[in-house]
Amino acid sequence: MGIQLNQVSKTYKSGEVEVKALKDATLHVPDATITTILGPSGSGKSTLLNVIGGIDRHDSGSISFNDKKLESLKEKQLTEYRRESVGFIFQQYNLIPTLTVKENIEVGKELSKQPLDMEDILEKVGMVDKQDKFPSQLSGGEQQRVAIARALIKNPQVLLCDEPTGALDEETGKRILSLLKFVNETYQTTVLIITHNHGIGEMAHHVIKMKSGEIVENYQNDTPIDPKKVSWA
Ligand code: ADP
Ligand code: MG
Repeated sequence: MGIQLNQVSKTYKSGEVEVKALKDATLHVPDATITTILGPSGSGKSTLLNVIGGIDRHDSGSISFNDKKLESLKEKQLTEYRRESVGFIFQQYNLIPTLTVKENIEVGKELSKQPLDMEDILEKVGMVDKQDKFPSQLSGGEQQRVAIARALIKNPQVLLCDEPTGALDEETGKRILSLLKFVNETYQTTVLIITHNHGIGEMAHHVIKMKSGEIVENYQNDTPIDPKKVSWA
């Protein structure tokens, strides 16, 4: 069970130019674990998350999500999978500026057939007092908390976080990572995080490093990874 990638490749073509964004990526992500994805810009990190989350399709190889094979899903089934089973968090919080905190989270709730409880989620992300504020009235860290709540209320099996700390200072970034760890422990959500924030070393069970579309390093552990074992460069 969990997520299993076997020899997954993805090439982007724009005109004459072809970019091999993923090359034969093979990876197992056990349920309820935290995986960190490291690697330089352009190494295929976002592509990896996007094909796992059904935002994009791979060209070859296989991605299994529990008993589903993503390559065999039709468009409609892939959309349903993306809406129901996957939560996305991005560097830009992508909140709707004309909706309050609570109304933004409601957007996620409406996507799910079995959403979690709004009051409970507001409390878990620490936004009870600010539920009627608008995004422009919040700090970056608070806006990311709302984005996490919007993804979380769907009760997804996996949270895919593409540089969730990228727009935040080191300390605020660490607090966001701690919240993701708390979510993982509280809901047994599988969490994949692309981040440059070193705070992740203390909490990830699994660290992979990408280079030119390939997974070039892979550290696995039942307990959180010793950050000293990871080469951050
Ligand atoms: P990372 O997230 O590690 O920075 P990406 O997965 O975004 O890397 O990109 C990997 C490679 O694929 C890069 O060379 C990038 O320019 C290319 N790429 C990504 N998305 C697209 C796209 N939609 N169209 C064309 N090329 C793309
Ligand atoms: Mg990226």
